[in-house]
Amino acid sequence: MIGVLDLQGDVVEHLDHLERLGVVARRVKEPSHLHDLKGLIIPGGESTCLARLLMIFGIDAAILEAYERGVKIWGTCAGAILLATQIVGEKRYLGLIDMEIERNSFGSQLDSFTTAASIPKVSSEPVPLTFIRAPKIRSVGTGVEILLQIDDYIAAAETAGILATVFHPELTNNLAFHRYFSRKCGLAAGESPPLADPTWTPTSWTRHSRVTSAV
Ligand code: GLN
Repeated sequence: MIGVLDLQGDVVEHLDHLERLGVVARRVKEPSHLHDLKGLIIPGGESTCLARLLMIFGIDAAILEAYERGVKIWGTCAGAILLATQIVGEKRYLGLIDMEIERNSFGSQLDSFTTAASIPKVSSEPVPLTFIRAPKIRSVGTGVEILLQIDDYIAAAETAGILATVFHPELTNNLAFHRYFSRKCGLAAGESPPLADPTWTPTSWTRHSRVTSAV
């Protein structure tokens, strides 16, 4: 089972993608919801807000413990900021992947954009990428593998236990990253091609009751 941290941000879209892959998912709203997970997704949103809520609900310490137990963690955008060991001009939060990240590095919300890139380790097809007031990973330490470098920044990186992406695969009609992370967690994820559901749109989940409730 994979958990999706459900404090703030784009939670439902991650649950939707996992469900389309046939991966059982659970909302994580409190420390006890981390029990029995193979992986945890920290979604995009606002890292300062997420960090405060993590502390208020005592989930930050529980995430660090889960990581020590071998639970794999994927942070998208704000989630990646929370996982970095260094944040330009700010103190770090969870500090689980050796990299320096710079918040809001492309400019304002209006400077958000989409593009596509080849990421051979993740997919044999180009992967669509959505950047929303995204950070840039400026550098990574030894032992961190760069999955995608664009121009002067790193957009995706990983270690054995952590995956960090500054973009949002959950906001595209593509399952490659969710499949990749599920397999990283040791879970079987459907073999269906990335564009498995031609009716999917960024808001189509609102018409379906696909969301798994918290335990
Ligand atoms: N700008 C946000 C932050 O700094 C991240 C945006 C996102 O997750 N899409 O936390």
